[in-house]
Amino acid sequence: MKNLILIMICVSSVSSLYAQSFSVLVRSERSNGTYYQEVELEDLKSDNSFEGKYFKVVKGKSKEAISFDDPNEELVDKAATTYYHLTKARKFWMNDIGSDMPVKVSQIVVRLEITNLFDEQGHYANNNRDPQFNNALSIPDGETPSWVPVDKQDKWGKEIWFRPMKKIDVTELARQLNIAPFSTMLRNLEGPFINYTQNNFQQTVLEHIFYPEYSNNSLGNDALIFAGTIAITKVIIEASKMLDKFFLEKYFYLDTALVPEVIYHEYAHIMLSDSLKMSHSTPVIEGMADYFSAVMSKKRKIYNRVRGHSNSNPKDTESKETYNHWKEANFNAGGDFVLATLWDVKEVMDSKLAYKIIFEARKTLKTDASIYDGLIRSILNSCSIHCAKPRADKLKLYEVFSKRGF
Ligand SMILES: [Zn+2]
Repeated sequence: MKNLILIMICVSSVSSLYAQSFSVLVRSERSNGTYYQEVELEDLKSDNSFEGKYFKVVKGKSKEAISFDDPNEELVDKAATTYYHLTKARKFWMNDIGSDMPVKVSQIVVRLEITNLFDEQGHYANNNRDPQFNNALSIPDGETPSWVPVDKQDKWGKEIWFRPMKKIDVTELARQLNIAPFSTMLRNLEGPFINYTQNNFQQTVLEHIFYPEYSNNSLGNDALIFAGTIAITKVIIEASKMLDKFFLEKYFYLDTALVPEVIYHEYAHIMLSDSLKMSHSTPVIEGMADYFSAVMSKKRKIYNRVRGHSNSNPKDTESKETYNHWKEANFNAGGDFVLATLWDVKEVMDSKLAYKIIFEARKTLKTDASIYDGLIRSILNSCSIHCAKPRADKLKLYEVFSKRGF
């Protein structure tokens, strides 16, 4: 009798999934603007919180899903928005890409407003150790080692973390850091050097925004240096765009949980994690996640501004940049060169086949693969296996890649 009851409970718990309507932030199909739209959230296991079959949205380090009735309305908006876009991403990876990862991966915990650094050995670094803002990351599953005291032991699956937004006053920081002489110096420089510097700085900053835990360049994790870099970058960006308008942007801010393409990007890391480790951030790994985010977004430019929530610079799928050996460096992982190069593949073949070629290319990619030797070679290999006319198609690919400077 006991067994029978248990079975019935199991059956009923599988079948009783809920749908509930919420207002979520979406990107307009016609413009880059955003607006709130009423949608149904599917596959909910609870009728009062964001606990779903595939995603569970929690606040900070909490184990409990955020309640539909949480008094913090913005938190509910973010929970609904991330839940909605992740569900959409899951379907895209199953139906459009044909990946079996969405089925293999168990429920993903989504953490909003979390400021802790990720610690591979302990899940969360100490609360007061370098709190993080304005970025998102996906983390690999893991558990604490056996020597950790019982009350500190923890085990977790794959998770996506969205940091709180923080407005950083660019002008004030620039003043504190006394970078005025630097901007004067810039004015005397030739255009190409400014472009080069701008690219370097933009990419360095983006890397810190999206995956500061994993960046190990000379900037380190020091919050002030990080913020200072943003200030300098803004100066350089504005200086090279319009010399008389320094500090055009007063603030920098990025609320990652409300930028749909950031949500797709983070989910893509999990989908690619059978080959590309989530604990690493390289131009190839970030470019792959950007590519699938862009495919899902159906936009030329991704990570566009969201009024009141992000004034971050977008990445362009049609960027005309060409290859340079320095693009291989880790600090360049935030650029759009790899994204634009991958985007070129569809010039040669039907876009669905392009997704497949690029998705399958991951199998021969190592986590530390370079762009030139790793990514380009893997795409050509993938074409040998999956293209309809491998020889002819590969020739076309060579042509496209050579235009990029390879
Ligand atoms: Zn990333």
